[in-house]
Amino acid sequence: MKKHKIKKITAICVCICVTVFAVIIAADFLSAAGEYKGSTTLMNTVVSVDIRGKDAKQVGADVVSQIGKLENASLSRFSAASSVSKINAGAGTFCQADSLVISLIGRCEELFEKSGGAFSPLLGGVSDLWGFGTQTAAVPADDKLNMALTAAKDGKTEVVSNTVKIPGGTVLDFGAVGKGVACDEARDVLKKSDVKRAVISVGGSILLYGEGQSFSVGVRNPLGSSNDCIGTLSLGETCVSTSGSYERKFTQNGKTYHHILNPETGYPVDNDLLSVTVVCDDGFLSDALSTACFVLGYEKSLSLLEEYGAQALFVFENKNIRMTDGLVESFELSKADFTILNGDV
Ligand code: AMP
Ligand code: MG
Repeated sequence: MKKHKIKKITAICVCICVTVFAVIIAADFLSAAGEYKGSTTLMNTVVSVDIRGKDAKQVGADVVSQIGKLENASLSRFSAASSVSKINAGAGTFCQADSLVISLIGRCEELFEKSGGAFSPLLGGVSDLWGFGTQTAAVPADDKLNMALTAAKDGKTEVVSNTVKIPGGTVLDFGAVGKGVACDEARDVLKKSDVKRAVISVGGSILLYGEGQSFSVGVRNPLGSSNDCIGTLSLGETCVSTSGSYERKFTQNGKTYHHILNPETGYPVDNDLLSVTVVCDDGFLSDALSTACFVLGYEKSLSLLEEYGAQALFVFENKNIRMTDGLVESFELSKADFTILNGDV
C-alpha cells in the first residue's frame, strides 16, 4: 500500500455525517466578522453552513432560507403544500408541479434508464411500508410489499407541460437526491454573493464552494460513530455525497435492514458494500449517483460514473476500499484496519 503524504491544508475538515436526527434542533448560529457558522434541521437532517466572506451572516441565512423553501414548496413528502405531496396525493392523475420538480423528474428518469432501473424515484410506497427512521419500522407483509413494488416496476411517470402523473399506487420520493439538490440551490445563492469560500452540508451531501479553494473532507467510518472517519479527501470546489447502509436501519429477529432498496425485490440492497461516496460538480448527480452506485455495486457502477464524469470511493464490508482513478491521489487513509485495493496504492 502506497503511503500517502499528509498534506497541510489550511482548509476545514468536514466529516460526512449521514446521521438523520429525528428531533428538530433549534437553529444556533454563531457569527464573527466575515464568518458565519451554524446548523439547523431541515429536510429531516442536519444542515450546517460555514461561510467566509462579505456579509457571511446574511448569506448564510439566505442559504438556509432557500433550502427551507426547496423543502416546503417542492420536495417534502410531509408538507401538504409541496409539489411532491400534491403529485403523490393525486397519483394516477395529472397534477401541477413547479418547474424544479418537473426538471428533477426528467433527470431521475434518465438515471433510472442509465442505471438499468437500479435507481428509482417511485419506490416511496415501498420505503413507507418498511418505515425506515420511524418507531414502527418493520419487515413489511409480502402481499403489501409486492403490490407497492409491482406498481413501481410497471408504471411510468408522465409529464405534460407543467403537470405530472405518477402511476396509481406509487409514491414519488426524492429522498435519494434532495440533499444534493439542496447543495445546488445553496450554490445558486452563494454565486449571487461576494462570498469566497463556503462549506454547506445537508445530511450526507456537501457543497464545497470557492474558486481556487482547497478543502479536506472526512469520509465517515461506516463501522464507527458519526464523527469517526476512515480518511480524508482533499478536494477543490465540488459536491460530495455519501450513501451508507449504516443510516436509517433497524434490526428484527437478529437481521439488520437499511433504507437503500433493491428495486427488483423491494428489500434492502444486500451486497458487500457499506458505503459509497461520490464526488462530482453537480449536487443532484453526486447524491443520485451515490444511491445508484450503492444499489449497483462496484463493478456495475464504473461505466455509470464515467458517463457522468464522477468519481467515487467504495467501502466494503470486509474493510476494503476501492476508488476511481480520480480520487487515488486525493484520498488519505487514516485507519490501519482498512485496506485500499486500487492499483499501486
Ligand atoms: P441516499 O441516502 O441519498 O442514498 O438516499 C436514500 C433514500 O433514497 C432512501 O431513504 C429512500 O428514500 C430512497 N431510495 C431507496 N432506495 C432507492 C433506490 N433504489 N432508488 C432511488 N431512491 C431510493
Ligand atoms: Mg443519494
